Amino acid sequence: MKKNLLGYTLPQMTEEFVALGQTKYRAKQVYAWVYQKRVLSFAEMTDISKDFRATLERDYCLDLPKIFTRQDSSDGTIKLLLEMEDGAKVETVLMPYNYGDAICVSSQVGCNMGCAFCASGLHRRTRNLTAAEMMGEVLVMDQLLSQWGRRVTHIVVMGTGEPFDNYDNVLSFVKAANDQSGLSIGARHITVSTCGLVDGIRKYGKEGIQINLAISLHAPNDEIRNQIMPISKGYPMDKLMEAVKDYEENAGRRVTFEYILLAGLNDSLAHADELADLIHRYQIFAYVNLIPYNEVAEKPYRRSSMKQVKAFADRLMKRGVNTTVRKEFGGDIDAACGQLRSKVLKEGQE
Ligand code: SF4
Repeated sequence: MKKNLLGYTLPQMTEEFVALGQTKYRAKQVYAWVYQKRVLSFAEMTDISKDFRATLERDYCLDLPKIFTRQDSSDGTIKLLLEMEDGAKVETVLMPYNYGDAICVSSQVGCNMGCAFCASGLHRRTRNLTAAEMMGEVLVMDQLLSQWGRRVTHIVVMGTGEPFDNYDNVLSFVKAANDQSGLSIGARHITVSTCGLVDGIRKYGKEGIQINLAISLHAPNDEIRNQIMPISKGYPMDKLMEAVKDYEENAGRRVTFEYILLAGLNDSLAHADELADLIHRYQIFAYVNLIPYNEVAEKPYRRSSMKQVKAFADRLMKRGVNTTVRKEFGGDIDAACGQLRSKVLKEGQE
């Protein structure tokens, strides 16, 4: 099987080509063709010798996933269900912010974390995505954007899957996306989001990279978190907060806590106070990003009213916690993460 060179970091590609007897410069040339000129055909890489191009054609590829289904929202959101070489399907979403175009990337096919509110978790993980497949998600969307003279400017690894359950591939992908000779997307414009794998957070804090970290918290205490996020039983709140605190000290970066508001479960002002207490108790300088819930037919949870979302945000801010409310996208398409994939898989079974 040919190796897909997308998603190789520059050092990985250099090592690969040097092992084939090539100079280090070859990797830089291929990188420039792929990421600066967006050329994905070895035949067009005319400054590379014919012999080496033949080797590349024989043993390597730069294949992108195929678009299986596409949904366009009136607000400019584009949701793609992409099909990988083996037929596996994953969602990728374009969110057009006023400051740029952000892509939400999936990191696994399905997810084992079992968060109770999540459509992605309806289907167990069948495999990890490779770095090349994650880069493929970005490049497919980038090709769509190019028709309007736009480029992907931000990446969030927040789609289906738990990134730290696929640690090495995710790290290769984000490093290639961040590399100045690669996609050259600034570290502060890339975010990796975990549901709270403490070992992963500790490892990530020692990587020496500036790429953002977000934690899906969704509850102010263990009691509620245990109800909606099974991972919490293995990594309770105190262990999670200690890891976040250590991360902030090691990496010198603030984290963002993602918090989905579920009506009647975690959205009262008492919960907001409890969350503020928690953050202050551990002296964490986090941001909190409140997420209005996209309801999922198979799940019992309901969306909090916008009045409640605002009151929750106001209370946190009054308590000295930096808080934002996430802009909503794709209300007229299958907005919830994993919803489109789930629908297509279900139709396939019928
Ligand atoms: S919220 Fe994220 S980690 Fe949890 S089940 Fe869904 S995809 Fe997996």
